[in-house]
Amino acid sequence: MRRTTLLSGLATAALLATAATAPTAAAAAPGVSGDAFTRAVAQLKAHSGAGLAADGQSFTLRQIATDADGTEHVRLNRYSDGLPVLGGDVVVHLGKGNVWRGASQSMAAAPQRAPKAKLSQAAASRIALAASTATGRTVSGAQLVHDADQAGTTLAYEVVVGGTYADGTPSELHVLVDASTGTIRDSWEGVVREGTGNTYHSGSVSVGSVLSGGTYQLNDPNRGSGKTYDLNGGTSGTGTLVTSTSNVFGDGTLANRQTTAADAAYGAATTWDYYKNVHGRNGIRNDGVAAYSRVHYSTNYVNAFWSDSCFCMTYGDGDLSQGWEPLTSLDIAGHEMSHGVTSNTAGLRYSGESGGLNEATSDIFGTLVEFYANNPKDPGDYQIGVEVKTNGVPLRYMDKPSKDGRSADCWSSSLGRLDVHYSSGPANHFFYLLAVGSGSSAYGNSPTCNGSTVTGIGNAKAGAIWYRALTTYMTSRTTYAGARTATLSAAKDLYGTGSVEYNTVAAAWSAVSVN
Ligand SMILES: [Zn+2]
Repeated sequence: MRRTTLLSGLATAALLATAATAPTAAAAAPGVSGDAFTRAVAQLKAHSGAGLAADGQSFTLRQIATDADGTEHVRLNRYSDGLPVLGGDVVVHLGKGNVWRGASQSMAAAPQRAPKAKLSQAAASRIALAASTATGRTVSGAQLVHDADQAGTTLAYEVVVGGTYADGTPSELHVLVDASTGTIRDSWEGVVREGTGNTYHSGSVSVGSVLSGGTYQLNDPNRGSGKTYDLNGGTSGTGTLVTSTSNVFGDGTLANRQTTAADAAYGAATTWDYYKNVHGRNGIRNDGVAAYSRVHYSTNYVNAFWSDSCFCMTYGDGDLSQGWEPLTSLDIAGHEMSHGVTSNTAGLRYSGESGGLNEATSDIFGTLVEFYANNPKDPGDYQIGVEVKTNGVPLRYMDKPSKDGRSADCWSSSLGRLDVHYSSGPANHFFYLLAVGSGSSAYGNSPTCNGSTVTGIGNAKAGAIWYRALTTYMTSRTTYAGARTATLSAAKDLYGTGSVEYNTVAAAWSAVSVN
């Protein structure tokens, strides 16, 4: 699995930087010719500035979402002279009848044509290797890209460095090395890890299983055949598929190693159901295929992580002597799987402000999964990971993120320099204000950064707005300012301009200093 992970680190890079999905034809509206992808590209070139319409600019289809009224949202990856343009991804909005409704993008910079790399790929790889702090470092892939930012585009190598961190978490570090100067422009981790621990306190629940050869497999046939594996202390591969002769998995105690496997299966199933029943999303990739889960990773591993390259979730057992229970709670399962949803929609880059928004998205949907489960053993709250700490102190708070001592409550121009688990603070705070409102409630006590009072609109509407913003308007480098625009667009679509919901979105962002 380590080898597989390293090799498919390229696939992780591909997901962020290049087309992950082959273009597919979508049904055209009556009287409209051409599939949605072809029409979207033609409309984009017709309505955009010279940069997007220039020679050498090309696009591949990443995703199409169609609203009930026939409006199409076509998400595209962008290339210039055949090289991926990082940060150049764009969503084209077409009204019924192929009517241009604009485009969402982080930036419209036009790459210079056919630039030459002064640095060799081998030299870039050496620079990237030195940037990793993991042990067992190896380069698993490198490619030339155009890296776009507000100033324009720069030719760079995207190098993927594999390895393992000191706590046992695998690493797939993406390093962008300037192809002229050798300067490191940016880096981000492809394996998303948490600082959270989870409990095995969801009680007795039903889990999907398949009878095969006289034994029951922990394999959910109703939710994309999501399987749960026991790594038995290993750190690679899939270990052993969890099976039972009685169709009972675990006994609620840690003495039985299937107990945490049941937690993982329940978390995967609940998250699947939440996305399907609330948002109409058929699995993380919206293709009906489940991610698989792995439990008992390494020894005393105090973390859980999502990996795009294996399309799987992995949970540590925690370390009771250090106050950590197994990291298999519902909000952590929902958090992890939501990283997969983000990867397959907006693709928010895991650094800077977009990284904070990526983390906040997982905290938001992890929380909403917990509420959705409506499980009396683990009632919904706006605290992240509180279930896995024996001292009952959560990892993060949404009502007032600074209560953790590290997260920000309010946006500032230096926010993007914080670790993504702390720069998520203002977005988590925004969501709490939008859903619950300011001041004291059963769920917390939330201040505002501008002294205003915000009245919440509830989890259902707040979640619908964030989901639509994520899947329809946000792109890989969306900033906090862009998130305000994206959620306002989503609220306008769902509830109308000037609606209470729309106005509350605006007020909640202003209340966290995003104006
Ligand atoms: Zn996370």
